[in-house]
Amino acid sequence: MEREKIQAIVERVLSRIDAGEMPAASSAPTSPNGVFKNVSDAVAAATTSHQILVAVPLEKRREIIANIRRRCAENVNTLATMAHEETGLGRVADKIKKNLLVIHKTPGCEILEPKAWTGDSGLSLVERAPFGVIGSITPCTNPSETIICNGIGMIAGGNAVVFNTHPLAKGTSAYTVDLVNRASMEVGGPNNLLCCIETPTIASANELMKFPGVRMIVVTGGGEVVKAAMNSGKICIAAGPGNPPVVVDETADIEAAAAGITAGCSFDNNVICTDEKEVFVVESVADRFIEAMRDNGCVQLRNHQITRLEKLIMMPDGVHVNKKWVGRDASKMLKAIDVPFSGDPRLIICDVPFDHPFIQHELLMPVLGITRVRDVNEGIDFAVKAEHGYGHTASMWSKNIDALHRMARVINCSIFIKNAPNYAGLGYGGEGYTSFTIASPTGHGLTTAVDFTRVRRCTLAGYFRIV
Ligand code: NAD
Repeated sequence: MEREKIQAIVERVLSRIDAGEMPAASSAPTSPNGVFKNVSDAVAAATTSHQILVAVPLEKRREIIANIRRRCAENVNTLATMAHEETGLGRVADKIKKNLLVIHKTPGCEILEPKAWTGDSGLSLVERAPFGVIGSITPCTNPSETIICNGIGMIAGGNAVVFNTHPLAKGTSAYTVDLVNRASMEVGGPNNLLCCIETPTIASANELMKFPGVRMIVVTGGGEVVKAAMNSGKICIAAGPGNPPVVVDETADIEAAAAGITAGCSFDNNVICTDEKEVFVVESVADRFIEAMRDNGCVQLRNHQITRLEKLIMMPDGVHVNKKWVGRDASKMLKAIDVPFSGDPRLIICDVPFDHPFIQHELLMPVLGITRVRDVNEGIDFAVKAEHGYGHTASMWSKNIDALHRMARVINCSIFIKNAPNYAGLGYGGEGYTSFTIASPTGHGLTTAVDFTRVRRCTLAGYFRIV
């Protein structure tokens, strides 16, 4: 569609705002695009953008999304570096991979397939329609990735979004919002498809969750924000914490398991919710497995060193992690506890009993607890307990199909990975699309545009069947 036609639609919508038929932002957006001082202005701007988005042809929506992918890919180094500098979490090279994953493998409009029933009574058509304005709360662990992923899915569904981003990552988040809006405008789409709050706080998150005109709340974060979203009184998609266990049995390819677990667990210094968090390995192969982990560059701690690390990274209650160490390089922790190492080790491993905090709690650090188990069934039973019913992610390395089958059934997670690093379950080296909002508590799993849309049916009785 030519630029003039789009411009005409934009002008029509703006004249309706002038006439008072539609809400308007009470102040012009500050620079960068889409960043607002308060929730009210952001919701008003997003409402206008949504109206424009649904007024332009679907082909334009596809073009906007294609250009968002292109512009984000061109800026991927900046996104990764900025997030690392601002939050201090993870590794730049891994953040580049995470961003490229969401840029290329987040589904767009193509996932919204219409459905039709025809018969003697005529035709019924079902299509997926936008909610309008969605409120989305995002984490510091994947700041640009979550905005790009939710942004593409929500725009594909015809929505505009107001993000309340993590205060620790507000700069990277605002940069991403601006980048996406500029990509939209560049091909004749509206500004402010994505909006965010300049200085996000828990108070602004709560205001967004209750704000009139916000039809759906999508949160990605820890247990507290999940609870808050579920109490918001709005339709909610909640992606919460996990504690992904890995079971390794005696039939597994031990070298492949060690290489895969090292790569998966250390990915972006373990800040991804789906990354491997603890291992249950069958006793008969445990020494070989740990040796293979060391061969992959992991640093194994001795007992007194484990105690020192525990004191460093856990709070005195032994339950909460010391946030100062979340997502930091293994080398920094090793230095802090005075353990010699060479190079830039990706992962620290600790042979610990089942009740140890490194097994029981989501650390979000390149520290992996490994517990020895009698046999594969004990490993699966421990995995179920250590997952704590989050229903999030789990994995297993085995060639025993009965054991794989049992674990798949009893672990009951949104994502279960067999014989591959956990990131394969996000579509990185595994089949299928990706999502960085994995909504286990509300049962949506890897969310897409399908989840960000509502179902509408149109029935025409007696006509339109063609056979
Ligand atoms: P976090 O819970 O500290 O923050 C997430 C967001 O929620 C932030 O924007 C924060 O400001 C907001 N928030 C926190 N408490 C709130 C409250 N009481 N009311 C309103 N808003 C609140 O999490 P984080 O440290 O940014 O991210 C790490 C956590 O998120 C981990 O537990 C990880 O497993 C989880 N996570 C889950 C997924 C998933 O898809 N399931 C994806 C990424 C992260």
